[in-house]
Amino acid sequence: MAEKIRLATVWLDGCSGCHMSFLDMDERLIELAGLVDVVCSPYVDTKGFPEKVDLALVEGSVSSEEDLEKLLKIRKNSRLIVALGDCAVTGNVSAMRNLVGVEKAMVQCYDELSDHNTGKRPCRVVPPLLERVAPLHEHVAIDHFLPGCPPPADAIYALLKSVISGEAIDIFEHTRFGK
Ligand code: SF4
Repeated sequence: MAEKIRLATVWLDGCSGCHMSFLDMDERLIELAGLVDVVCSPYVDTKGFPEKVDLALVEGSVSSEEDLEKLLKIRKNSRLIVALGDCAVTGNVSAMRNLVGVEKAMVQCYDELSDHNTGKRPCRVVPPLLERVAPLHEHVAIDHFLPGCPPPADAIYALLKSVISGEAIDIFEHTRFGK
Protein backbone atom coordinates (compact mmCIF):
# COMPACT_ATOMS: atom_id res chain seq x y z
CA MET A 1 0.00 0.00 0.00
CA ALA A 2 1.32 3.49 -0.94
CA GLU A 3 2.44 5.72 1.88
CA LYS A 4 -0.21 8.15 3.10
CA ILE A 5 0.38 11.82 2.34
CA ARG A 6 0.91 14.05 5.36
CA LEU A 7 -1.89 16.63 5.20
CA ALA A 8 -2.27 19.81 7.24
CA THR A 9 -5.22 22.20 7.19
CA VAL A 10 -4.72 25.60 8.72
CA TRP A 11 -7.14 28.37 9.62
CA LEU A 12 -5.71 31.92 9.54
CA ASP A 13 -7.98 35.00 9.19
CA GLY A 14 -11.09 33.35 7.74
CA CYS A 15 -14.56 32.46 8.96
CA SER A 16 -13.91 28.66 8.97
CA GLY A 17 -16.36 28.29 6.06
CA CYS A 18 -13.63 26.77 3.91
CA HIS A 19 -13.03 24.13 6.59
CA MET A 20 -16.80 23.50 6.68
CA SER A 21 -16.71 22.95 2.92
CA PHE A 22 -13.95 20.36 3.45
CA LEU A 23 -16.34 18.51 5.78
CA ASP A 24 -19.03 18.69 3.08
CA MET A 25 -17.09 15.97 1.24
CA ASP A 26 -19.23 13.75 3.48
CA GLU A 27 -18.71 10.01 2.87
CA ARG A 28 -15.68 10.75 0.67
CA LEU A 29 -13.90 11.67 3.91
CA ILE A 30 -13.90 7.96 4.77
CA GLU A 31 -12.11 7.17 1.52
CA LEU A 32 -9.63 10.01 2.15
CA ALA A 33 -8.97 8.81 5.69
CA GLY A 34 -7.31 5.75 4.15
CA LEU A 35 -5.10 7.90 1.92
CA VAL A 36 -4.01 10.85 4.06
CA ASP A 37 -2.58 11.30 7.50
CA VAL A 38 -3.95 14.52 9.02
CA VAL A 39 -0.93 15.73 10.97
CA CYS A 40 -2.18 19.21 11.84
CA SER A 41 -5.67 20.69 11.67
CA PRO A 42 -8.46 22.31 13.67
CA TYR A 43 -10.25 18.96 13.10
CA VAL A 44 -7.71 17.04 15.13
CA ASP A 45 -6.79 19.77 17.62
CA THR A 46 -3.02 19.55 17.17
CA LYS A 47 -0.69 22.12 18.67
CA GLY A 48 2.02 23.73 16.57
CA PHE A 49 2.92 22.89 12.97
CA PRO A 50 4.92 19.71 12.31
CA GLU A 51 7.86 19.09 9.95
CA LYS A 52 7.71 17.31 6.60
CA VAL A 53 4.13 18.07 5.60
CA ASP A 54 3.30 17.05 2.03
CA LEU A 55 0.30 19.33 1.54
CA ALA A 56 -0.95 22.27 3.57
CA LEU A 57 -4.41 23.67 2.81
CA VAL A 58 -4.47 27.20 4.22
CA GLU A 59 -7.74 29.06 4.77
CA GLY A 60 -7.87 32.79 5.46
CA SER A 61 -5.69 35.80 4.89
CA VAL A 62 -2.72 37.17 6.82
CA SER A 63 -4.01 39.78 9.27
CA SER A 64 -1.91 39.55 12.40
CA GLU A 65 1.67 38.96 13.48
CA GLU A 66 0.58 35.50 14.62
CA ASP A 67 -0.84 34.65 11.17
CA LEU A 68 2.41 35.70 9.53
CA GLU A 69 4.54 33.71 11.95
CA LYS A 70 2.39 30.62 11.33
CA LEU A 71 2.51 31.04 7.53
CA LEU A 72 6.30 31.34 7.47
CA LYS A 73 6.52 28.16 9.52
CA ILE A 74 4.06 26.39 7.20
CA ARG A 75 6.14 27.36 4.14
CA LYS A 76 9.34 26.14 5.74
CA ASN A 77 7.84 22.76 6.59
CA SER A 78 5.53 22.00 3.65
CA ARG A 79 6.23 20.67 0.18
CA LEU A 80 3.02 22.16 -1.24
CA ILE A 81 0.81 24.98 0.00
CA VAL A 82 -2.66 25.55 -1.43
CA ALA A 83 -4.41 28.87 -0.79
CA LEU A 84 -7.89 27.58 0.10
CA GLY A 85 -10.71 30.01 -0.59
CA ASP A 86 -11.02 33.64 -1.55
CA CYS A 87 -9.68 35.08 1.73
CA ALA A 88 -6.41 33.20 1.20
CA VAL A 89 -6.36 33.97 -2.54
CA THR A 90 -7.31 37.67 -2.56
CA GLY A 91 -7.90 38.84 1.02
CA ASN A 92 -11.67 38.91 0.34
CA VAL A 93 -13.86 39.69 3.38
CA SER A 94 -10.95 39.90 5.83
CA ALA A 95 -9.26 42.57 3.71
CA MET A 96 -12.25 44.92 4.04
CA ARG A 97 -10.44 46.18 7.13
CA ASN A 98 -7.87 47.72 4.76
CA LEU A 99 -10.48 50.29 3.72
CA VAL A 100 -10.32 51.97 7.13
CA GLY A 101 -6.98 50.87 8.55
CA VAL A 102 -6.13 49.21 11.87
CA GLU A 103 -6.64 52.18 14.18
CA LYS A 104 -10.07 53.15 12.88
CA ALA A 105 -11.21 49.52 12.89
CA MET A 106 -10.11 49.18 16.52
CA VAL A 107 -11.92 52.39 17.51
CA GLN A 108 -15.10 51.25 15.80
CA CYS A 109 -15.03 47.72 17.23
CA TYR A 110 -13.92 48.38 20.79
CA ASP A 111 -14.95 52.00 21.49
CA GLU A 112 -17.83 53.13 19.30
CA LEU A 113 -19.84 49.99 18.52
CA SER A 114 -19.20 47.84 21.58
CA ASP A 115 -22.06 47.28 24.04
CA HIS A 116 -19.55 46.67 26.81
CA ASN A 117 -17.08 49.48 26.36
CA THR A 118 -14.40 49.15 29.01
CA GLY A 119 -12.10 51.71 27.44
CA LYS A 120 -9.44 48.99 27.13
CA ARG A 121 -8.13 47.21 24.06
CA PRO A 122 -7.50 43.47 24.25
CA CYS A 123 -3.80 42.69 24.32
CA ARG A 124 -3.59 39.08 25.48
CA VAL A 125 -6.20 37.28 23.36
CA VAL A 126 -6.07 39.30 20.15
CA PRO A 127 -2.57 39.21 18.61
CA PRO A 128 -1.15 42.50 17.25
CA LEU A 129 -2.71 43.27 13.88
CA LEU A 130 -0.65 43.97 10.78
CA GLU A 131 -1.25 47.34 9.16
CA ARG A 132 -2.57 45.64 6.04
CA VAL A 133 -4.50 42.39 5.56
CA ALA A 134 -2.89 40.43 2.71
CA PRO A 135 -3.48 37.26 0.70
CA LEU A 136 -0.99 34.46 1.32
CA HIS A 137 1.14 34.95 -1.80
CA GLU A 138 2.15 38.46 -0.67
CA HIS A 139 4.16 36.81 2.10
CA VAL A 140 5.22 33.39 0.81
CA ALA A 141 5.23 31.42 -2.46
CA ILE A 142 2.02 29.46 -3.02
CA ASP A 143 1.83 26.29 -5.11
CA HIS A 144 -1.82 26.37 -6.05
CA PHE A 145 -4.89 28.58 -5.62
CA LEU A 146 -8.37 27.17 -5.02
CA PRO A 147 -10.77 30.14 -5.10
CA GLY A 148 -14.38 30.24 -3.95
CA CYS A 149 -16.18 31.51 -0.90
CA PRO A 150 -16.00 28.77 0.08
CA PRO A 151 -14.49 26.51 -2.59
CA PRO A 152 -16.97 23.68 -3.28
CA ALA A 153 -16.39 20.31 -1.63
CA ASP A 154 -16.12 18.70 -5.08
CA ALA A 155 -13.21 20.99 -5.96
CA ILE A 156 -11.42 20.22 -2.68
CA TYR A 157 -11.92 16.50 -3.29
CA ALA A 158 -10.59 16.73 -6.87
CA LEU A 159 -7.55 18.66 -5.63
CA LEU A 160 -6.78 16.12 -2.90
CA LYS A 161 -7.16 13.19 -5.28
CA SER A 162 -4.81 14.77 -7.82
CA VAL A 163 -2.16 15.36 -5.13
CA ILE A 164 -2.59 11.86 -3.69
CA SER A 165 -2.21 10.31 -7.15
CA GLY A 166 0.96 12.34 -7.70
CA GLU A 167 -0.56 13.91 -10.82
CA ALA A 168 -0.61 17.47 -9.46
CA ILE A 169 2.67 17.56 -7.58
CA ASP A 170 5.01 18.35 -10.49
CA ILE A 171 2.55 20.84 -11.99
CA PHE A 172 2.13 22.71 -8.71
CA GLU A 173 5.86 22.88 -8.08
CA HIS A 174 6.38 24.45 -11.50
CA THR A 175 3.59 26.98 -11.11
CA ARG A 176 4.59 28.25 -7.68
CA PHE A 177 3.65 31.93 -7.38
CA GLY A 178 4.30 34.63 -4.85
CA LYS A 179 6.99 36.10 -2.71
S1 SF4 B 1 -13.24 32.37 1.58
FE1 SF4 B 1 -15.34 32.68 2.32
S2 SF4 B 1 -15.83 30.78 3.39
FE2 SF4 B 1 -13.58 30.84 3.18
S3 SF4 B 1 -12.82 31.82 5.06
FE3 SF4 B 1 -13.13 33.45 3.56
S4 SF4 B 1 -15.20 34.24 3.96
FE4 SF4 B 1 -15.04 32.23 4.94
